[in-house]
Amino acid sequence: MNINRQWLLSKRPFGMVGKDNFEYTESPIPEPADGEVLVRNLFLSFDPTQRGWMEDRESYLPPVNIGEPMRAGSIGQVVESKNSDFEVGDLVQTTGGWQDFIISAPGVGAMGLTKIPDGVPPELMMSALGVTGLTAYFGLLDLGDPKPGETVLVSGAAGATGSVAGQIAKIKGCRVVGIAGGQDKCNWLKGELSFDEVIDYKSEDVDKKIAEYCPDKVDVFFDNVGGDILEAALNHINMKARVVLCGGISGYNATEPQPGPSNIMNLVIMRARMEGFIVIDYMSRASEAVQELMGWVQSGELQYQVDVQEGFENIPDTLNRLFTGQNRGKQLLKIADPN
Ligand code: NAP
Repeated sequence: MNINRQWLLSKRPFGMVGKDNFEYTESPIPEPADGEVLVRNLFLSFDPTQRGWMEDRESYLPPVNIGEPMRAGSIGQVVESKNSDFEVGDLVQTTGGWQDFIISAPGVGAMGLTKIPDGVPPELMMSALGVTGLTAYFGLLDLGDPKPGETVLVSGAAGATGSVAGQIAKIKGCRVVGIAGGQDKCNWLKGELSFDEVIDYKSEDVDKKIAEYCPDKVDVFFDNVGGDILEAALNHINMKARVVLCGGISGYNATEPQPGPSNIMNLVIMRARMEGFIVIDYMSRASEAVQELMGWVQSGELQYQVDVQEGFENIPDTLNRLFTGQNRGKQLLKIADPN
């Protein structure tokens, strides 16, 4: 291959993100300078936060500029190296973007450049051991601080982050209730991942079901969704509950500012804490989490599910799968096989 296929951000989104926000182009393969490597992307990661990166507003990372390749986490293979720490053939994790090739270097970009440990499949490195696994790990354990016997409620429970958060809560001896969209996902959570109870928010009354399934109230709420689901959960928090604000996907494609929960005073009444976090603040502790998560994967206590799409032309549509709930587990797209 002697061209670099790219999907550029061409138009900022209003409402649901779609293919018309991006433009396909081809450009020459870039040349690495001293200290840099040329990486060929193999797998792209799809993350709800990419929707936010497309907007023209300051966030925890700067917005993607119009005309730039869409930012995305990736795993790729070094095809040319001008950095003595990396050899041609190394499998690496970086912020490759929606393109075949990226110039990368350690410490540069949102994810820098790190080698994949020998023998770890890219799909595992991008899911349970990747950003979503670390998010579940640090969000649940550091902010949620679950104790054995406590009740942990997880929204977005069948997703890449939520499914890991719920399983870690089970490993820690908690009673775990998940909220997800559709019977298939609910069956998977209860049947395969041993969640104690599940609520299908698309067909059930979430507020009533939380009351039924959490008779001792909710000690930790790990929230990926926000909106009505956050409001329902706040009705059922226990004394000294911890509400972990991981994300609010229900509002990411909203065209107007979303109202906050009307029952926020429950935090006062229940002396509870609600706290947001961004996983990149925990990257200096990543190896601690990866080691423990890997142990749980190897012992069979932690299962992970990946949804691998294919085809460079399908990249923009794959992002939408996160917002329609089509994804089954961590959303990835495979561009190429390693050499
Ligand atoms: P994911 O959960 O694998 O996929 C997104 C899921 O969100 C979909 O499968 C869908 O599941 C659900 N969803 C979509 N629209 C919804 C709506 N309107 N109402 C309720 N649920 C909806 O994605 P992920 O990468 O693991 O991300 C999950 C959450 O974690 C997101 O909010 C993301 O922003 C957040 N996150 C935060 C950090 C951090 O550092 N704070 C890091 C990573 C991710 P259903 O089929 O069940 O509806």
